[in-house]
Amino acid sequence: MRSDTLASQGVNEEMMLPSQRVKVHIRCKKCGETFILRGVRDAKGHIETGFKRCLCDNEDEFDVEPLH
Ligand SMILES: [Zn+2]
Repeated sequence: MRSDTLASQGVNEEMMLPSQRVKVHIRCKKCGETFILRGVRDAKGHIETGFKRCLCDNEDEFDVEPLH
């Protein structure tokens, strides 16, 4: 007898909540360093990239621009 108990595991959560993946261009206003990151746009239009801070320790002065 074979067991099929594992068949229902591994449900794909991305099917439930389609998230928009976008590329984001981030430029530090302090040192001018630029970063290209992949982010996820949520329902409110906010883009979450996980980006925390620049190499120069700047944490909140950035130009953020989604790339199309
Ligand atoms: Zn910087």
